[in-house]
Formats: sequence, structure tokens, C-alpha cells
Amino acid sequence: MWYNDYISNLTRDVPKDDGFPGKTTERTVGMTEIHAPKPVCDALRLLHQNGFSAYAVGGCVRDSLLGLSPEDWDLTTSARPEETERVFADFRVVETGLRHGTVTVLAEGLPLEITTYRIDGAYADMRRPEQVTFSTELREDLARRDFTVNTLCWSEETGVLDLFEGLNDLRDGVLRTVGNADKRFSEDALRILRCIRFASTLGFQIEDATSDSLLFNRFRLQSISAERIRAEFTKLLCGKHASKVLEKYRSVVEVFIPELSALVGCAQNTPYHCYDVLGHTLCALDHIEPTEILRLCMFFHDFGKPICRRTDENGRDHFKGHGAVSVGIAEAVLKRLRYDHKTVEEVTTLVRIHDTKAPRSKAEAKRLLAQIGVAHYRALVKIKRADTRAKADPHALDERLERMEALLEEILQNGECYSISMLAINGNDLQAAGVPYGQTVRAGLEGLLDAVIDGRCPNEKDALLRFLQKNLM
Ligand code: ATP
Ligand code: MG
Repeated sequence: MWYNDYISNLTRDVPKDDGFPGKTTERTVGMTEIHAPKPVCDALRLLHQNGFSAYAVGGCVRDSLLGLSPEDWDLTTSARPEETERVFADFRVVETGLRHGTVTVLAEGLPLEITTYRIDGAYADMRRPEQVTFSTELREDLARRDFTVNTLCWSEETGVLDLFEGLNDLRDGVLRTVGNADKRFSEDALRILRCIRFASTLGFQIEDATSDSLLFNRFRLQSISAERIRAEFTKLLCGKHASKVLEKYRSVVEVFIPELSALVGCAQNTPYHCYDVLGHTLCALDHIEPTEILRLCMFFHDFGKPICRRTDENGRDHFKGHGAVSVGIAEAVLKRLRYDHKTVEEVTTLVRIHDTKAPRSKAEAKRLLAQIGVAHYRALVKIKRADTRAKADPHALDERLERMEALLEEILQNGECYSISMLAINGNDLQAAGVPYGQTVRAGLEGLLDAVIDGRCPNEKDALLRFLQKNLM
């Protein structure tokens, strides 16, 4: 069925922009044309010229119709994998998953996953179908896909094809499984997480039967590999609607992060807070950029609070040392979910410093820079801003954080010294001046850095040597 006319002029509400870069969920399901990249059109044409039917399918069509830029372009075709390889004999071809019918073609630098129409067999391990049967029917291929909005397909000749009422759901912003939800979630439990991930990134509602079923079947996620969970969870966390989805479908996330449940109802009776720890965390998430590291940091930053909570005789809560406990929990969870070493390092570093006080003076700013470096200093401003937005007085730190940023820019612009490596003198100079090698050289350099930061000595070699001899030897 041809839907190009049908979908024209249908529009959905456009959520307010929060000013963050990256994917936006502004959507106007009214485009009659999809502007696929040239390599996609060329690849489809080549398959057609060789007598096969072929379409762009799934996420790329969905996102294009929503006015978003697709992450990747997947093609589906009646050609068998070996036939696809023959058609693209002049291209670089990677046999990605021949058994599942997928061939990756590198077309002008763009990797295209080209998969043969297929019917999935039984899912022995709830991960991948035990065996797949290739098909010549587009409908059969679309029927195995997870949600109706992911069944849309497109080619230049046909325009958008909609065999499972995906366009209605796309227009209404609804996620609905293709066929019986219990059956589809039992076949592959990752779809449960994919469903709430799409709700988070696209801001779609999950249709009632699909929602009930995913909650009922959530424990099936236990059988899914950490790597697959991690990929979807990261996307969920970076979605524009992450906090709402985490609130409503927290029990799904608790299947693989049970530590989350301790945040619920963990009161914060202090003059600074107005939410329990979960409410605070979700609100803070809304106020941080949607990058993997920052969202993970905000998600985990207060995980240590339930353990560290102490109530004094006046009924006031204290959370001393919670940063370090949050680091321990974040590290354990991230490793369990097989996040790479660099991500674990970055996130735990930021969680560790999240409660650091904002510097008030240039000297304090330089000392902080010496400790954490420029990138983490900038990240800390963002983290502190988001953290404060989720407290009783959301703008309490505005001026201090602006000053924190301005101090950094001034220091960088003037090339002002804030670290030992920026001193106009080094360890060799100190040794030449008679300072014994080792601890003493280090202490001498630190003493000089202190003096430079405090303005007691200019950062010039002669002045530094004189200062050293007079005060530090
Ligand atoms: P993204 O924006 O993350 O790329 P996507 O929907 O394109 O979202 P992909 O993982 O690229 O997700 O998958 C491409 C298409 O393959 C989907 O749109 C869907 O049609 C189908 N698909 C992917 N994973 C599953 C699954 N677990 N079960 C059924 N169909 C799936
Ligand atoms: Mg995709």
C-alpha cells in the first residue's frame, strides 16, 4: 500500500527544546519524501537492476520520517547473501552474519547492512533465532521485526511502504509490538529494553498491552547478555525522556541494576533538598547533556546515599562520604554491564569529584585545575549545575558556577600557570641549583607552584630560583 499521500501534513506536538545538542525529538510526520544518502539510493538501484526487490527498512525510515538523522541505514532484500555479494562484487564487502543473512557493504565509506528477507525460527536462548529461513516475501521479513514503527520500509520507486500500520503509530507516537506482545518479548527479551529505550529517545507512549506485557516479562532480561543490555541502556539514559521512562519503568531497569531500588524513598531531610534520592537523581538527569559519560555520572552520583544516610538528633540527614560509596557501586555495576575500561574510569572519576566545592578565587580554581585537569573541570561545572537544578533552590549556585567558568577561561586565555609542568623551571633546574633528587625536588616544585598560584612569585626562571633559594632550601 502506498502511504506517501496519507502521511503528508500529519503533525505531532513538538516538545520544547532543552538546548542540548544531539538528537532532537522534534517531529513532523509529514514528509512525503525521504532523502536517503546517495550510497543508499545507489545500492537499492543496483539490487533492483539485478532483478531483486530491496528497501531501506526499520530505524532509518522511522527516523527519517520523524525528521531525525538515522544512526545507520539497513537494507532488506529478496537477494540471498551470496547474490548480494555478487551484486556488490566491486565493493568492499564484509560477511557480517551470513548465517542470519547479513552482508555489510561499504558504499562510499558508508557501511550498509544488507539482509535477506527472512523468517526467524525458534529462539533457543532468547537472544538470536536458532535458525533463520530466507524468504522471498517482504511481509514475512517485516513481521519478524519488533515494533510497528520499525516495520516501515522505503525505496525511491515505491516511497514508504507500511504493511503493519506503523505510520499510524508513528504519527501518534506509539510503540506497539508486531503481533502478540507476550510472544514477541518471550522470543527475544532484549525487545523489552528496546521498547523503553525507544520511549526514552523518541518520547513515544507504550501502548497498554505492550506496556503490561513488558512489565510482566521483565525478568526474562536476566537471560540477555550484558553487552546487549549495555548498548540499549546507554541509549535509554541518553534519551530526552530518560527520567520519565526510568520513573515509570524502574522495575525493568532493576532487573539488571537492582542497586537502583535503594534510592526509592531514601529521604533527604536537609534544607537543600526537596526530593528523595531517586527523585533528585531523575531530575538531575534531565539537566545534564545527553552524552554517555555525563548521563552515567548523573545516574550513579548519589547511589551511595542510602548507605551513608545518618539522621542527627534534630532529624536532619547527613550523607558524609557518599561520593566514595557511589564510586564503588558505579564501578561494580559498570563492570558487570561490561562497559569498557575508559568509560568506567571517566564515570567513576566524575562521580568521585561531583561534590567538590566550586572555587571562589582564581587561586582556588588553579588548585582545582592542578588536581583534575581542564576537561574534568568543565565537566564538573555541568555536573554541579545539574545537581543543583535538582535541589530545593535550583539556582543557588548560578553565580558561583558562572564565576567558576569565567575563571577557567581567564586562566586559559592568559596562559596562566596552574600545574608543575607549566612552571618556567623543571626538576633538572632544581637539581642544578643543589636540591637533592627525588622527594625533595617534587616538594620544591610544589612549593614553587604554590607561590606562583598565590602570586608570591612570578613564573619566571630567575625569580623562581631566587624564591627557591630564599624560602625553600
Ligand atoms: P537505532 O536508531 O538504534 O539504530 P533501530 O530501530 O534502527 O534503532 P537497529 O538495532 O539498528 O535499531 O535495528 C534495525 C531494525 O532491525 C529495527 O528497526 C527493527 O526493525 C529490527 N530489529 C532490531 N533488533 C530487533 C529485535 N531484537 N527484534 C526484532 N527486530 C529487531
Ligand atoms: Mg538502526
